[in-house]
Amino acid sequence: MLADPQFISKITAQVLAKLQETEQGKENTGIFATMDDAVAAARHAYRELKTLSLEKREGLIAAMREAACANAALLAEMAVQETGMGRVIDKIVKNKLAARKTPGTEDLRTGAWTGDRGLTIVEQGPFGVIGAITPTTNPSETLINNGIGMIAAGNAVVFSPHPTARLTSRRTVEILNAAIVRAGGPANLLTAVAEPSIEAAERMMKHPDVNMLVATGGPGVVRAVLSSGKKAIGAGAGNPPAVVDETADIAKAARDIVDGCSFDNNLPCIAEKEVIAVGSIADELTAYMGKYGAYPIRGRQVEDLMKVVLTEKEERMAPGCTAKPRKLYGVNKNFIGKDAGYILRQIGLSVPDGVKVVLCETEADHPFVLEELMMPVLPLVQVKDIDAAVELAVKVEHGNRHTAIMHSKNVDHLTRLARAIETTIFVKNGPSYAGIGVGGEGFTTFTIAGPTGEGLTSARSFTRQRRCVLVDAFSIV
Ligand code: NAD
Repeated sequence: MLADPQFISKITAQVLAKLQETEQGKENTGIFATMDDAVAAARHAYRELKTLSLEKREGLIAAMREAACANAALLAEMAVQETGMGRVIDKIVKNKLAARKTPGTEDLRTGAWTGDRGLTIVEQGPFGVIGAITPTTNPSETLINNGIGMIAAGNAVVFSPHPTARLTSRRTVEILNAAIVRAGGPANLLTAVAEPSIEAAERMMKHPDVNMLVATGGPGVVRAVLSSGKKAIGAGAGNPPAVVDETADIAKAARDIVDGCSFDNNLPCIAEKEVIAVGSIADELTAYMGKYGAYPIRGRQVEDLMKVVLTEKEERMAPGCTAKPRKLYGVNKNFIGKDAGYILRQIGLSVPDGVKVVLCETEADHPFVLEELMMPVLPLVQVKDIDAAVELAVKVEHGNRHTAIMHSKNVDHLTRLARAIETTIFVKNGPSYAGIGVGGEGFTTFTIAGPTGEGLTSARSFTRQRRCVLVDAFSIV
């Protein structure tokens, strides 16, 4: 008899949970029953880290990088198993990317002034204990990336991971802590509670021994840290448009958009969420996208898909208001990060394995365009020219100032959109993931702080500036 896949999933989850309980029993895993204990242990580890040299700190980071790479596949498999979202093969790439391309201590900069009155330096020191809230969409990547960057800056970290990814995030903390201890570093430089919850996150935000907060997630959590009264970095939601004009290399644009949109089944906040194409090249673009793995649907099929992947309710009207209530749409969480083939099967379409993206042409105000779907369902809107493309891209990005992508060979067009949309990341002529260092230059991050302006965060984002002044000496000229 063939075992039911759901039954296998359930058993695997139970075994994983049991394994985690056993790990918890061991010392120095970084996992604690209460938030107060997690903070106290991180505070103790921070004091110990302060006694170590920068060279030693860099040694701990090297050990974290190695452990994260060695466990990239395990963590990727756990994440897909536990959350039911994303693709193992892409999550391996993301884990390794975080391990290898997150900057270490070399990111820290010292500023200096010399002159008649001596030498003044400004150094970047640690905050102390950072409380980091992490998303379900990158449940190990964010911890690897934040962990390396925050420790490189001399901090200890208390993580508050998303409850639906708690086992994966816990395992990541354990793996990184074990590597640090093996390399001769303090235990519990990274900590978390065994059972993360909103209540535990709130306790962390209010805890007097947590000096700084970093939130990676949707608008709710960014708002929560920004109202905490503490120094906070907020890395929030995006809805990245991919604009294609008539001067673009259409075949390449099509391939890049399909690749970027389907990476980890569209979970990354930077991934292409809608295409805005100038009318004269829209048909050619659609045809090429089909060639590279997009499956076009239309008419009734789009309506059926809306019923599956969106939630719908009527606007609540004030008493006495006679206006017709509007339909309000949301995203059906059951389809976030699912394969295109799985999504299409829900509307009765069976497609070959190579299909990566569901493509549909829509109006500009369609909920597929306006909502951050986080699944490989890609609406395409035709516009008459570049003016209309820029206007629409700015509108549907919703002022998140997160990420935008454009395919064009016209420098003026590229510059116009970049200036108008003011995003933290603007990728020209490549897939969105080039913006975080995959097939593009530059370091990586999994915490892109648009709302608070740190941009692509790295070690230096997690530091305090401290000035030290030596009067009338040490200037040698
Ligand atoms: P989410 O907002 O549901 O959860 C993120 C984290 O915040 C979780 O740990 C959750 O438990 C916690 N949380 C949520 N509300 C909270 C509250 N009121 N108080 C305290 N903690 C709270 O997001 P998600 O579904 O896990 O992740 C997807 C979202 O994150 C998308 O909107 C995506 O664009 C965004 N994201 C942004 C970045 C970035 O770098 N800007 C990176 C990844 C994901």
